[in-house]
Parts: sequence; C-alpha cells; structure tokens
Amino acid sequence: MTILNGKQIAAEIRSELKAQIATLLNQGKRAPKLGIVIVGHNPASETYVANKIKACAEVGIEAVKIAYEDTISEQELLAEVHKLNSDTSMDGFIVQLPLPKHIDEQTITSAIDYQKDVDGLTPENVGRAAKGLPCIVSATPRGIRELLSRYDITTDGKHIVVIGRSNIVGKPMATLLMQKHERGNATVTLCHSHTAHLKQICLSADIIIVAVGHPGLLTADMVSEGATIIDVGITRVEDPSTERGYRLAGDVDYEQVAPKCAYITPVPGGVGPMTIVSLLQNTLQAYSLNSTL
Ligand code: NAD
Repeated sequence: MTILNGKQIAAEIRSELKAQIATLLNQGKRAPKLGIVIVGHNPASETYVANKIKACAEVGIEAVKIAYEDTISEQELLAEVHKLNSDTSMDGFIVQLPLPKHIDEQTITSAIDYQKDVDGLTPENVGRAAKGLPCIVSATPRGIRELLSRYDITTDGKHIVVIGRSNIVGKPMATLLMQKHERGNATVTLCHSHTAHLKQICLSADIIIVAVGHPGLLTADMVSEGATIIDVGITRVEDPSTERGYRLAGDVDYEQVAPKCAYITPVPGGVGPMTIVSLLQNTLQAYSLNSTL
C-alpha cells in the first residue's frame, strides 16, 4: 500500500510555480494577482482563506483579501463581482463559499467572468469542461487529477466511482474523468445520497473518490483488494485531547481500508494541499488568459 502524499506533491508544485513566476518577473512582467472575497466570519472559511493567502505569498502571487460583513446584500456582492470582472489588474478571483443564506451562491458564482473564474464554477467553465474544451477546472478535481498523474496511476478503462455530486467536487470530477484525454477515459459511476446498492457499486471500482463529509462512510467491506482510494472529506470532529479541541476526519475508515488498497490518500495531507496548489495553478492560467499583460 502506498500513501499518496499530497502535502509533498503540493510542495513540489509550489516550487515549480515559484520558479515560473520568478522567470516572468525577470522578463519584466508583473506578478499574477488573485482576489479572495470572503463574507462573514465562518471559522473554517477564515482558515481556508488564510491558507490560500499564505500559499500565494510562497510562490509570488499577489493575493488581495476583500472582506465583507454578513450583512452585505446580494446586490452589493454582485456589484463587487462586476467590479472585479472589469478590473484588468486582477487576473482571477474567488468568492469563498459558503455564503450567508440570504445570498444565492449560484447567482454570485455565475456572474464571475469565466476567464477569471479560478474556482471553475461558472456555467461557461462547467459547460466547456463537459464538452472537453479548454477551461479552468475546479481546484479539487484538478488537484486529484494531478495527484494521480504524479503517482502514474492510470485511469484509462478503469471503473471509477465518485461518491458525492457537489458542484465543486463530485460533478466536475466525474466530468473530467470521462473525457477523452490523459487521466480520463474512465468508466465513471457518480453516486449520491439517493444511490441504491452503494456497497456493491464500490466493490466493482478500481478507484473510489469520496466527497461526502460523513466521517467513516467508506468502510473496508465496500472496497476490493488493490483499489485506489481518494478521500476528499474534511470534517471537524470534536477531540478534547487536541490543543484545538477538534481533529480533521476524512470520509474513509482509514485504519480498516488502507491495508486493502494499492494507493490511498490520508486526511489531512492528501487532497487538501492539492486543492490549494491547484488554485495557484488556476491563477497562473487566468494570468495567461488576461489580455492586458
Ligand atoms: P456537499 O457537502 O455539497 O455534498 C455532499 C454530497 O454527498 C452530496 O452530493 C450528497 O448527495 C452526497 N451524500 C450525502 N450522504 C451520502 C451517502 N450516505 N451516500 C452517498 N452520498 C452521500 O459536498 P462537497 O462540498 O463536495 O463536500 C464534501 C466533503 O468534502 C466535505 O467534507 C468537504 O469539507 C470536503 N471538501 C474537501 C476539499 C479538499 O480540498 N479536501 C474540497 C472541497 C470539499
């Protein structure tokens, strides 16, 4: 069994990006710039945003945090999105989710200029991904594809089960894996909360990608010998024995499942660091799409 070390691969990619950006600066070009809009004070969101800003600084991307109180209206937030769309110095931006209940996430994310949409959430990018056209791919699926690629795990002809149908992970992951390209060409089954016979479906999988948010959902009896397991889940589980009072748990019963696998991602240190580094790669992609360079 091999542990897919997302932390290490992400560090390698960060040094590659740092070198690429240093070359751009040596050529007299400006640094790529990423906007991060955050609304309210959700502790998990604040941690994610802080980690993204830190990662940007490490590679030489200029990150600008745009923070609003959760009293902001949908119209006001929409106006900020339009402002960022027309700001030619801003290569890409994200609106950190979740948003407060009175703001419709679809309305906000759909208003982002697709060439600045470094989270890959706009209908344009989602549609382009589905048609196999060049696009900005959602960060977590991009990171998982990269992880599979760096460990030379083939997907061609494999049966891949994706559990979870969110717009940020499950759906774009399934779309990517079924395309006619490298790390694609898979036979994909997308499972969700209404799926019958989940265990039987999983038992026929070569690769299982689980993105649900239920610790321990994927148990050893659902996994066949030699399968590859990608655990996307991150749930804060109370743990008084830790300094923070909680620990992070994935969706996989790691202790029981790992011995059966060919490859498995740990939580933390698997998919999470790959997601952040993919956002940096997407920012560089948006930078190269910015015609004002
Ligand atoms: P979500 O929370 O929007 O939705 C969960 C999905 O799980 C739904 O599609 C639902 O149909 C499915 N589901 C629920 N119960 C199920 C069951 N019993 N069997 C099968 N499917 C079931 O999904 P999300 O936003 O993709 O988040 C999923 C998890 O991944 C969360 O823990 C989140 O924190 C984590 N996450 C991690 C990263 C990362 O970088 N590692 C990135 C994004 C999300």
